Amino acid sequence: MSRIIKLSINYTTKTVRFMKVKKIFAMLLLMIVALGTNVMTAQQMELPIDEAVRIGKLDCGLTYYIRQNNYPEQRANFYIAQRVGAMQEEDNQNGLAHFLEHMAFNGSEHFNGEGHRIDDYLDSKGYNNAYTNFTETVYIIEDVPTTSQGTIDSCMLILKDWSHGLLLTDDEIDKERGVIHEEWRLGRDAGERMRNRQLENLFPGSKYAKRDVIGSMDVVDNFPYQVLRDYYDKWYRPDNQALVIVGDIDVDYIEAKIKELFKDVPAPGPDAAVVETYPVPDNDEPIVAIDKDIEQQISYVGLMFKHDIIEKEQKNDISYVVINYMKNMMSTMLNQRFDEKAQDPDCPYIQARAYDTSYLGANTKDAFNLTVIPKEGMIEAATQEGMIEALRAAQYGFTATEYARAQEEYMSRLERQYNERDKVHNSSYTQQCYRHFLDNEPLMSIEDNYELMKMIVPNIPVEAINQVLPQLISTDGKNLVVVNFNQEKEGAVYPTKEGLMAAITAAETAEITPYVDNVKQEPLIANLPKKGKIVKESYNETLGYKDLELSNGVHVLLKPTDFKQDEIYMMAQQRGGSSLYGEKDWANCEVFEGVIEYSGLGGFNNMELKKALAGKRVNISQSMQTDMDYITGSSNVKDLETLFQLIYLQFTDVTKDEKNYNSLLNILDISLKNKDLDPDNVFNDTLNYISNNYNWRSKPFTVEDIQNLNYDRILEIGKERTANAASYIFEFIGSFDEATIRPLIEQYIASLPAKKGKKSNWANVSDYPKGQTIKHFTHKMETPKTNINISWFNTDMPYTLENSIKANLLGRILRKIFYDKIREDAGAAYSVGAYGFSMMEGDESYTAITAYAPLKPEFTDLAVRVMNEEMLKACETIDAAKLEDFKTVMLKDHETQLKENSYWYSVIGAYANRGQDNFTGYEDIVKAQTPETISAFARELMSAGNKVEVVMTPAE
Ligand SMILES: [Zn+2]
Repeated sequence: MSRIIKLSINYTTKTVRFMKVKKIFAMLLLMIVALGTNVMTAQQMELPIDEAVRIGKLDCGLTYYIRQNNYPEQRANFYIAQRVGAMQEEDNQNGLAHFLEHMAFNGSEHFNGEGHRIDDYLDSKGYNNAYTNFTETVYIIEDVPTTSQGTIDSCMLILKDWSHGLLLTDDEIDKERGVIHEEWRLGRDAGERMRNRQLENLFPGSKYAKRDVIGSMDVVDNFPYQVLRDYYDKWYRPDNQALVIVGDIDVDYIEAKIKELFKDVPAPGPDAAVVETYPVPDNDEPIVAIDKDIEQQISYVGLMFKHDIIEKEQKNDISYVVINYMKNMMSTMLNQRFDEKAQDPDCPYIQARAYDTSYLGANTKDAFNLTVIPKEGMIEAATQEGMIEALRAAQYGFTATEYARAQEEYMSRLERQYNERDKVHNSSYTQQCYRHFLDNEPLMSIEDNYELMKMIVPNIPVEAINQVLPQLISTDGKNLVVVNFNQEKEGAVYPTKEGLMAAITAAETAEITPYVDNVKQEPLIANLPKKGKIVKESYNETLGYKDLELSNGVHVLLKPTDFKQDEIYMMAQQRGGSSLYGEKDWANCEVFEGVIEYSGLGGFNNMELKKALAGKRVNISQSMQTDMDYITGSSNVKDLETLFQLIYLQFTDVTKDEKNYNSLLNILDISLKNKDLDPDNVFNDTLNYISNNYNWRSKPFTVEDIQNLNYDRILEIGKERTANAASYIFEFIGSFDEATIRPLIEQYIASLPAKKGKKSNWANVSDYPKGQTIKHFTHKMETPKTNINISWFNTDMPYTLENSIKANLLGRILRKIFYDKIREDAGAAYSVGAYGFSMMEGDESYTAITAYAPLKPEFTDLAVRVMNEEMLKACETIDAAKLEDFKTVMLKDHETQLKENSYWYSVIGAYANRGQDNFTGYEDIVKAQTPETISAFARELMSAGNKVEVVMTPAE
C-alpha cells in the first residue's frame, strides 16, 4: 500500500498521519459545541441534512426527495435517478444502458403513439433530457409551469413511466438503432478513438476496460429485442431509483401523489440482482499509455496518481468536508503557480493543471491528476517541469500569502452563495438531491454549510494544507498512470515509455528551490481622478430605467432589481467596432479581446492584477464586434467600488504585459497550427467564409496570421476605442442601491476623458452572397461523417421584434419536423435541427432560417432533400398544434426572463444603442401568430431567393 492510499483511509478512520489537522479538528468540534449552532446532531461528526428537503422511502424501495423552492417562480423540475449504468451490462448488452435511456422517450404506458409521446407532450411544457454513464442513468424534466395541476400530474406520470412503464416495442427499438449509431459517430473524435484503444491498458483486470457507455456498434445494430428488455427488467427497480421533485409545488401533495402512483408496485424479491461495484486494481509498476491520431490537434500528457476513494458511508462526516476543502485549497494554489510559470518564456508547457477527481470516471478509484500541454516538441521537458512545480509545492509547501488569497477566494464564493440563498435555482437543488441519493454527497443547507465553513476555513493553517500534496504524489511509480496522446504526423518522433518515465525521475532528483510569491502592494488607483457630476436625469417609462447624463457627456442607465441579492452587471457600449478598421488591421482586431484580457491595468501586470483582486468577486473585459465596442463587467455588492476602479482603468490605463502577450501567442500558435486536423473546424471555417461572400473580414484565422499581429498596434486600437467615453452608454443592472452608486458614478465615470458631441459610429460592412450558393465538397476524415448547413436568408426585410419572433417560431417548427423525419423516422442523425433569427449589423438587417445536421454519409441526399422540401412546405402550411406548443414555450421562457438581470441587460442595451425595443408588445406578438402569419413570413423570407447550402462529405 503506497502513501497515497493513506490519505483517505487513515483520515476517514481518524487515525494518525494528519496529526495537526486532527488536533485542529478536536478544537473545532469544541468550538462548534460551544457555539451551540445547529451544525451539531446526535452523532458529533455527522453532517446535518437540509430540513427543507422531504426525504422518504416507500415499502417498494423507491426513494424520493421533494423540495419547495421559488426560483424561478411557478416552475418545477422532475427527475428520476437510477443507480445503474453501463457497468451493469453483460457483454452482449454493451451499450444498452444508454440505448434504454433513449427508449424511455419512445413509448411508455401513458405516453404512446404518434404525436403523443413524452417529448411531444413536453414540447410545450418544459425541457427534457437524460444521460447515462458507468454507474447512473438520470432523466430530467426542467422548468415545467406549475400553474396547472394537470401538468404537474402528467409529469408525475412520466416519472412513473420512466420508473417501470416503458413499452420497448420491436419497432421503436429498430428505429432507435440508427440514432444511437449516429450519436456514436458524432462522439468519435481523435480523443475518443485513442481512449478506446487504451481502455485495456488503463484498466487492466477491471470491468471498466470493457465498457465505454456508448458501447459496441455491433451490439447496437444487431441485439435481439429481449436482451434490452432483460437489462430493463433486471435493473429498473424501485430500490435502485429516486424521484426528485423541486420547485414551486405543494410538498404534501407531491408526496401523497407518489404514494398513490407507486402503491401497487411490489418490492423486489430476495433474489433481485445486487448492484455491484467494480474495482480498479492498484498497479505496482507505472502504466504508460502513449497513442497518436491524425485528427488530434494538440499533444498532452496526464499523470494520474491513483488512490482510494472515500467510501459513501463516510461522506456524511465532517471530515469529508474538511478533506475536500484542503484538496481544493491545494489545487487552487498549485494551479495559480502553473499559470504564473506558464508566462515564463522558457517554460516548456503552455498550460498545466492539477486536480483530484475520480480515476477516468470510475467510481471505485480516485486520482490526483497533473496534466500538461507542452509547447511543440517539448513533451518530455513539459512533463518534467510540471512535475517539478508540483514537487516544489510538496517539498516546501505553499506560502502564507498564497494561502490567504486562496482562502479569501473561497470565502467570497461562499458568502455570495449565502447572500443568494433565497434565489437558488431549482436545478441546483435538484442536483444536490440526486447526488445525495447516488453518492451520499452531503445534503446540507446553505446556512449550515456557511456556518460550518466559517469555522473550518480560518482554523486550518497553511501547514495543514501543505501535508496534502506530499501524500497524493508518489515517487515510487506505484499507482502511477501516464497518458500521452499525440497528433500523428509524418516524420514526427513520439515519446517513449522510457523517455516519459525518465522525465518524471529527473524531476524527482532535480534540485528544487522554494517558490517566491511576488505581490504588488499598492492601491489600484494611487490618485483619484477629479470628480465629475450628474447633470441631468430622466426616467424611461418603457423599460423602467433611469438615464443619468454626466458632466463629461456620458450617459449612465440604472435599473436596480431584486432578481438576485448579490449580482450587479455593467455594460458600456458604443458604435464602431472592427468595421472602422481596414484589412491590414484585420488580424489585430480578430485577437483584440484576448490580447486585452492578457494585458494588465493601472501599472499592474496581468499576474499582479490577478493577485491584487484575489477574493474579490469582480471582473471586467473589453471587446469589439463588427459594429460595436464593449466594456463589460460584473461584481457583487461588496466589491462594487473595485468594479468602478477597473472601469476607470480600462478606459485610461491598459498596461502592456509583453511576457503574458507572448504566452498568449504560444497558445494561439499551438491551437491554430493543427486546427484543420479536425474536420469540424474545416467545415465551420468554410461555412463562415462562404456565408459572408468570401469577404476578407470573415476569412479563417490561421497560424500564418499570427505574424501579422502587433501588440503596440492592438493597444493603440484599444486606446482609440476608449478615447471618447461620451460616445459610450453605460448600463448598471442588479442589486445596487442608487444612493451608493451615484457617488461612484461621479468619481469614476463622470471623470473619464471625453469629447462632447463627437460620437463614434459604425461603418456598414456586411457582405452576403446573393442568390443560390451551393457548395458541396469532400474532405479526408477518420470517421466518415457528413456535415450539412443550409441557410435561407433575406437582407431586405427590416429588423423588427415581430420578424424576430416569427423567425424564432419558424425555426422551432422546422427543428421539430427535421427531428421527426430525419432522426426518429429515418434514424439518420443524432443531432439535427434548425433555428431562425433576425438581426442588425450596423444599419443592415439579416433574417434567416438555418438547418443543420451532422450525419451518416449515406443519408446526405435524404437530409438535404427533406430540409429543402420542408422549408418550401412551410411557405404553404404550418402545423397549428405545433405552433401553439412553441408559442406556449416562448411565452413561458419570456415570463422567466423578465426576472433575470441578463435579459434586461441586453434589452436595455439594444434599446439605448440601436433603438430596438425588444420588450414592448412581445407577448401580444407571440400570441397573434397563426399558421398563416408564419407561412407568409416564410414566403417573404424566401422571396429574396437567397440560399447558402454547404455540405461536406468524406473523401474516399
Ligand atoms: Zn444518447
